[in-house]
Amino acid sequence: MEIYQRIFEDTPDALLVVDQAGRIVLANIQAETLFGHARSQLIGHPVEMLIPARFSRHSDHRARYMTEAHSRSMGGTTELFALRKDGSEFPVDIMLSPMTLQGQHFVLCVVRDITERKAAQDALAQQTMELRRLHAELELLANHDGLTGLYNWRAFYEYAGQMLKTAHRRQESATLLMLDLDHFKQINDRFGHAEGDRVLQAVAATLKATARENDIVARHGGEEFVVAALGLNEAESQIAAERLRAAVAAIENMKTPVTTSIGIATLAPQVGKHETARVLAELLDQADQALYAAKHHGRNQVCHFNRIVNLASPAA
Ligand code: GH3
Ligand code: MG
Ligand code: MG
Repeated sequence: MEIYQRIFEDTPDALLVVDQAGRIVLANIQAETLFGHARSQLIGHPVEMLIPARFSRHSDHRARYMTEAHSRSMGGTTELFALRKDGSEFPVDIMLSPMTLQGQHFVLCVVRDITERKAAQDALAQQTMELRRLHAELELLANHDGLTGLYNWRAFYEYAGQMLKTAHRRQESATLLMLDLDHFKQINDRFGHAEGDRVLQAVAATLKATARENDIVARHGGEEFVVAALGLNEAESQIAAERLRAAVAAIENMKTPVTTSIGIATLAPQVGKHETARVLAELLDQADQALYAAKHHGRNQVCHFNRIVNLASPAA
């Protein structure tokens, strides 16, 4: 018999045996150390003395457990805390095991202090959150232009590619606008680079505010911007580009008026084979040619690629 007593006392966890009325009937040395109560202060007292008052429903849970007693860990997914004699709380893991002795029901409670484990888990959770935050920040930096906050070229290329795929799948049209600010170098030369930057930021904000929510607006680099829009045919893309042009020309509070030229390329609804990279490259090239034509015809205007082709063609 002595060996069982030794096991009870020498187990590294705190052990308590609780009767059907919720009173502690046995406690080992580890329980005394863990809770700070002498055994005489534990035995015969309700087990709730070891539970913080905020777990006020413990006695209900205990009563229910007594009626359907089976071995299980306590708490499920909730964090459990125990109460020391000095009033301090600490996190615990608790295993419950029902016992029947001479017709009487008891519960063996194995209580383990998990302060260190929980601290390590909390630190890990904190680090994971910090990593997530850094990851989001990195993603933002990788996809966005630092000066204007618009998408950068890399992000534009990816998202415009996705947009073209969507257009192809739904057999819709798609439009690409290429914008280049007019005589921007003069702004830098006359008012300084900082004013040039301020103009770029104002133009970016205006484009973003004027474009539709699902349009992709990006800074191509320097004083050039690109916009991709889904579902606009040639006439509609012309109207959308004109709106953007007018919005830029209407920007106030700059040291000199700002204007932009815009080249447009439209992809008609397509069936059959579709190579996104090639289609995107072709549209960019067309928009670039149209932009060149807009510059050539006097700047502060929009020009659709289809119109230049028509102008150039003898049949037009
Ligand atoms: P055009 O009407 O023919 O487009 O004339 P432009 O002066 O706008 O064209 P150009 O390409 O000669 O000048 C673009 C200028 O944009 C030159 C460059 O110094 C300036 N630039 C490029 N990136 C930045 C920037 O981030 N900030 C500022 N302030 N200027 C920039
Ligand atoms: Mg340029
Ligand atoms: Mg320019």
